[in-house]
Amino acid sequence: MLIILDRDGVINAYEDGDYICRPEDWIPLPGSIEAIARLSRAGHKVAVATNQSGVGRGFYTEQTLAVMHDRLRELVQRSGGQIDHVAWCPHLPSEGCDCRKPGTGLLVQIRDALALDTLDGSWLVGDSRTDLEAGQKAGCQLALVRTGNGRNTEEGLKMAPLGTVDVFNSLSEFANAILQRTD
Ligand SMILES: [Mg+2]
Ligand SMILES: [Zn+2]
Repeated sequence: MLIILDRDGVINAYEDGDYICRPEDWIPLPGSIEAIARLSRAGHKVAVATNQSGVGRGFYTEQTLAVMHDRLRELVQRSGGQIDHVAWCPHLPSEGCDCRKPGTGLLVQIRDALALDTLDGSWLVGDSRTDLEAGQKAGCQLALVRTGNGRNTEEGLKMAPLGTVDVFNSLSEFANAILQRTD
C-alpha cells in the first residue's frame, strides 16, 4: 500500500505558522522515524508531500530543503526502511500552482514517480485540513494525526466534517493501526 505523509507536524515538530528554515530546526517527532521504517519494512511504499512556500518566500533555499530531506532519508534507512519519494511545493499561495496542497499536484507527482495507476485506497496522513482535502480529491483514505496542527484541525472537522477521517495521536499510532490491519 502507498502511504503519503505530510512532513511538518507529522514527521517533524512544527507549530502552525512556523517555517523550518535551517537543517538543525528539522527535529523528528518521537517515534516518527521508526514508524516510517516499520511501515516500509512491512512492504508499504512511503512518500512525503510537503508544502514549502518558505522557498518561494526566500526564507531558505532548495539546497537547504534537500539537506533536510537527505537527513530524513538517512534516519529512516538507519532504522531499516526507506522513503520512496519526496514531493514538495516551493510556491507561494498567490502563484496559484496546482501542487500546493489542497491541490493534488504533489500526490500526482508521487503516483507518477512510483509508476502507480491510481491513488485510490492509498493513505494520506496529515495534520492540516489542506492535507486531508488534497487526499480526499485524490481518492485517498484519510488519517489525521494530533501532532503539529492536528488538534486544531480536529476541532475544525467537528464544525465542518470532511468525510471519513481516522484520527491518531501520532504517526507511530497510525503505523500500529495499519500494521495490525494488514498483518
Ligand atoms: Mg503539516
Ligand atoms: Zn506548487
